[in-house]
Amino acid sequence: MRVYNFSAGPSMLPLPVLEKVQSELLDYNGSGMSVMEMSHRSKVYEQINAEAESLLRELMNIPANYDVIFVQGGASTQFEALPLNICTNKKADYIVTGVFAEKAFKEAAKFTDAKCVASSKDKGHTCIPVPDASMFRPDADYVHICYNNTIVGTRFRGAPDTSGIPLAADMSSMILSEAVDVSKFGVIYAGAQKNVGPAGVTIVIVKKELTLNPSPSCPTMLKWATEAAEHSLYNTPPAFSTYVAMEVFRHLKAMGGVKAMQKLNEEKAALLYGYIDNSKFYTNKVVPEFRSLMNVPFVSPSEELDAKFVSEAAKAGLLSLKGHRLVGGMRASIYNAMPMEGVKALIGFMEKFELQNK
Ligand SMILES: *Cc1c(COP(=O)(O)O)cnc(C)c1O
Repeated sequence: MRVYNFSAGPSMLPLPVLEKVQSELLDYNGSGMSVMEMSHRSKVYEQINAEAESLLRELMNIPANYDVIFVQGGASTQFEALPLNICTNKKADYIVTGVFAEKAFKEAAKFTDAKCVASSKDKGHTCIPVPDASMFRPDADYVHICYNNTIVGTRFRGAPDTSGIPLAADMSSMILSEAVDVSKFGVIYAGAQKNVGPAGVTIVIVKKELTLNPSPSCPTMLKWATEAAEHSLYNTPPAFSTYVAMEVFRHLKAMGGVKAMQKLNEEKAALLYGYIDNSKFYTNKVVPEFRSLMNVPFVSPSEELDAKFVSEAAKAGLLSLKGHRLVGGMRASIYNAMPMEGVKALIGFMEKFELQNK
């Protein structure tokens, strides 16, 4: 039996994609072998690699002066790759809005003069600081943000104005869930395992001019220019993950693209937040304007009830609702692949649980 899996990552994949992958598992496209078994230098795999890139370009409307590369190591590796690839003045400004933003900042500080220019820490990360251009150092190489904060459940609303300083964004937990104007960003990176596909592949979208002066000590494996020149095939790529990602891209295109997903995601989020806000039993502390469309943390009146909620929900086929250990409570991750029926099933369970426990 398939369950509704509310895990923050790895997370649900669209059922039609899983079925397609299953049907192609033993013999991909007449090759007589699985994508797992095939040379990444084969024509068949080169087609997968090229289609994954062209579909992502189409879905996100990525301008031609940007490279799109598929690498390994997860978003966490990009925390380090970023200051090693963009380091003209060895200065970078960070907006710290949660756990991953803080990790990115700390990693960068090993390689560059990283400065936290704004933080939501004193507000318990329940909002996003509204940046104004004067807070950035004019000679910073880039400004880093975490666009959607997976653990605390906040998000930026559009790209902040950095008065021309390149903007780098970790979009791991929201890529392809809402429309973003790629041209406002210098770098976008995202691990696949939340909104795109299985863990293993990481997407990097970078303006070509920002790849040209990596640090001399940048490891080859972290160098965007190398991967771009080799079309992400410098060494053995995470081929199976990239293939599943390509199938997800095809599926998203068939669903109507990112705008259609955004509409659906806004409807799902509105239903869940609306229910929580109307309830006297459940609470979400995030300032409404900055609420994530993807990750919805909430608490019941006590920690005991939170624990009971999570275990009873699991018995009802609603899995992985336990909040991150740093914030406690519950968290429902409702990425692209979570259907509206899953959100409705969750709300149905929440109603029942409240009646039985208030
Ligand atoms: C999950 C997550 C990460 C970490 O991703 P890995 O692929 O495990 O390195 C980084 N940033 C954000 C916003 C995330 O949600």
